[in-house]
Amino acid sequence: MPAITSFDIEDLRFPTSLDEAGSDAMNKDGDYSAAYCTLRTDDGQVGYGLTFTIGRGNDIVCSAVEQVASRLVGWTTDELFSAAGMGRMWDYLLADSQLRWIGPEKGVIHIATAAVVNAAWDMYARHEKKPLWQLVADFTPEEFVAATTFRYITDAITPDEALALLKEKEAGKKERLAKLKAEGYPAYTTSVGWFGYSDEKVAKLTREAISQGFNHFKMKVGGGVENDKRRLALIRSIIDDPKECAGRPEPSPGSLEGKQAGPTGSCLMIDSNQVWDVQEAVDYVKQLAEARPWFIEEPTAPDDILGHAEIRKQLKPYNIGVDVPPPTSFTFAATGEHGHNRMLFKQLLAAEAIDVCQIDSCRLAGINEILAVLLMAAKKGVPVCPHAGGVGLTNYVVHLSIIDYLCVSGTKERNVLEYVSHLHEHFEHPPTINARGFYNVPLDPNEGYSIGMHDESKATYVYPHGKYWSTAGQAKVRANATS
Ligand SMILES: [Mg+2]
Repeated sequence: MPAITSFDIEDLRFPTSLDEAGSDAMNKDGDYSAAYCTLRTDDGQVGYGLTFTIGRGNDIVCSAVEQVASRLVGWTTDELFSAAGMGRMWDYLLADSQLRWIGPEKGVIHIATAAVVNAAWDMYARHEKKPLWQLVADFTPEEFVAATTFRYITDAITPDEALALLKEKEAGKKERLAKLKAEGYPAYTTSVGWFGYSDEKVAKLTREAISQGFNHFKMKVGGGVENDKRRLALIRSIIDDPKECAGRPEPSPGSLEGKQAGPTGSCLMIDSNQVWDVQEAVDYVKQLAEARPWFIEEPTAPDDILGHAEIRKQLKPYNIGVDVPPPTSFTFAATGEHGHNRMLFKQLLAAEAIDVCQIDSCRLAGINEILAVLLMAAKKGVPVCPHAGGVGLTNYVVHLSIIDYLCVSGTKERNVLEYVSHLHEHFEHPPTINARGFYNVPLDPNEGYSIGMHDESKATYVYPHGKYWSTAGQAKVRANATS
């Protein structure tokens, strides 16, 4: 019987601070990094998983990944490779009382658990010769429930309720899949408006994004009201100009509903990455009303459930739209990329604190916990637009949104999935977009969770002894940080 007999952990860091790709008001000089886990069986099977950080501390996460991964050694593929087996694995990994003490279910130990859980799911999907989304979408509702963790959330959704919801969504699944393959999954771009980019660069990238088919754009804010207003006006001046958007595919009216779209069908979102206090967020965002943002993302501390509810309440009736009358004209609240477990999402949803639920594929501890959040969001009717700003996250999230569309929410009409364009070259199966700016469906039966990385990339960027870091890289990044 094949079993997991070994694993490798690699500390991979990419020098994104050099060109400020990924920069925002809180995180100005991140070096996108991955604690990368490879699980191996004695008959040659592999599973790849990563968790995302932005540089220093990635070694601490790697050390925690090692602790968690060692608990899977000895598990046979027979024990693992079923929906119920994956459910049992998740319970087991989370049940180490000594490791639990340094969470529980949050922080370093939880994101480290995500790397291992993601790797196990990747191995299972590769074994079944299906991309991960298909592995899960082919589950019966009963299997889906068996793979989902319900611990601590049965006051929000019970396994029986989830089963009923999933059974209802079985109807039409085949049609949805055909539609998905034909159209792709809607996406928005964050790559036009990173915090550190010059106006010239923002304008150039916005035009490029239009030519790629995008009609949803996100800009980083929090750098001063006047500065933000200028940058937002710059983007609006391009995306609202019919001449600039000539030839771009027409968005469906339903996909724009309530999003303060401009005359060409372009939507703009803003993200402050946690820099404000609660009232400060409200007062600040009101001053950006002219740019008609669809949502403000991470306006304050990610754990502040009641703070988000207050921000949402104060912004909701505030008629910032210029063309659209209430009640559709208001700024939505979005958060979740630092939502550290399903209990936090349970509370955000119960407190009506968010309009858009932004799960993260590595902040939550892998597929089992993500399925739980998808189910809770669907029950509340809140759209899920996963976070993808990080190395490898774009690879992951397309699987999650497809699972949501096919099995859980049954809709992608108002959803948009984040897309960032950098670091794709390091992956064996990078995400791709079509002419509408929509994600293509991953179809290679051997790509698993799409996170396999080129050996050359790993050898170059493994820290601190890889080719990049052991030569000029260290000095360059240090010099840049002190300049
Ligand atoms: Mg964000």
